[in-house]
Amino acid sequence: MSATSDIVIVGGGVMGSATAFFLLSDPAFTGSVTVVEKDPAYRFASSALSASSIRQQFSTPLNIHLSLFGIAFLRDVERHLALPGERLSIGLREPGYLIMATGDNLDLLRRNVELQRAHGANTTVLSPDEMKQRFPWIETDGVAGAGFGLTGEGSFDGPALMQAFRRKAASLGARYVAAEVVGIDRAGSRITGVRLSDGTGIACGQMVLAAGPWSGAVAALAGIDLPVRPRKRSVFVFRSPAVLPACPLVIDTNGVWVRPEGDGFLAGVSPPEHEDADADPTDFEIDHHFFEDPIWPTIAARIPAFESLRVTGGWAGHYEYNTLDHNAVIGPHPDIPNLQFVTGFSGHGMQQSAAAGRAIAEQLVHGRYLTIDATEFGYARIRDGRPVRELNVI
Ligand SMILES: Cc1cc2nc3c(=O)[nH]c(=O)nc-3n(C[C@H](O)[C@H](O)[C@H](O)COP(=O)(O)OP(=O)(O)OC[C@H]3O[C@@H](n4cnc5c(N)ncnc54)[C@H](O)[C@@H]3O)c2cc1C
Repeated sequence: MSATSDIVIVGGGVMGSATAFFLLSDPAFTGSVTVVEKDPAYRFASSALSASSIRQQFSTPLNIHLSLFGIAFLRDVERHLALPGERLSIGLREPGYLIMATGDNLDLLRRNVELQRAHGANTTVLSPDEMKQRFPWIETDGVAGAGFGLTGEGSFDGPALMQAFRRKAASLGARYVAAEVVGIDRAGSRITGVRLSDGTGIACGQMVLAAGPWSGAVAALAGIDLPVRPRKRSVFVFRSPAVLPACPLVIDTNGVWVRPEGDGFLAGVSPPEHEDADADPTDFEIDHHFFEDPIWPTIAARIPAFESLRVTGGWAGHYEYNTLDHNAVIGPHPDIPNLQFVTGFSGHGMQQSAAAGRAIAEQLVHGRYLTIDATEFGYARIRDGRPVRELNVI
């Protein structure tokens, strides 16, 4: 091996960079950190292609806690991540999520909101009349009620957050190496180093796997089965003369979502689960047909002012999708203790990056969780085939 680092982080997107930042901010940590990133322009990273929204409306307490930590961090991002003398804004807005339910799933929505509130989230259930009072521009046909985030839900500039983590981590001493990890060396139950595409290698004390949608492929280099796969999602940008005061992120009963962004709007939908196949890792073509059906008919019926709109752009990115249970895989491998996972967030990683990065830093420095106990999302459940199902996957 031509170099040595106490910690090697594979992947320098929001997860790898948040982990590096929290590690180097911990006064108890005195080691070296190297982040290996194969695409330093981040052309294909999820973190550069994210819709970057944040919600508290989950069905799993741990997800609620990770996102509550996220919103507190984002509100105070300048204090955490600005470089000396710099003004830092990530454009956080908190108009809420409005998640609609039919009569069939209203009870479940109510139970979820009760759970969210019990864990500290400021969410509520709106009746159709209450929805109309708040948002007179919305139609409520077929809607029995909706979960609504009174505070703590909205959107932000995710790529700016990732770059802020990266610049701050680098300023604290993280070394970023532009190369691809093509091999991982193991000696029994320890990772001993990584091999790079330029023919060099880095010996390490501990390794963090933060390779986003490529995480399953990187784990396989170490002979580890990790069910994290790339799943393609298209995001559409459109302009409309519609004036929608206080417009939240609206999620219709069929999963179509729409939210304001700058002078226009973003919209998207996940394919039905039975059609959602692993993506070709090089395919970033937008699936235009999703806008024609179901997105446009859905949003035009729900928000009649969208009868008039013009699609002006869009993009496709890959979720780092955990096919076992759509939840993150965080923390040490139970049988390879110097390997940490921070991946598999399945569409809600940007908002949970601060909490996850901090959790991994705590594991690396203190050998346990201090702030949020993320044991439930550990690799042991993957090994044992025990899913922790999140019902609110978007
Ligand atoms: C279309 C879309 C919409 C989304 N919307 C939201 C949202 O609204 N809210 C939300 O919270 N989350 C959202 N997400 C999810 C969120 O963006 C991701 O969970 C998050 O960005 C994952 O960050 P990451 O660092 O794990 O992955 P990435 O950003 O992909 O970073 C991983 C990095 O690892 C590098 N890498 C991979 N393999 C190797 C290797 N062998 N060697 C070296 N480097 C390697 C890659 O180049 C990449 O830069 C969305 C994602 C997509 C695609």
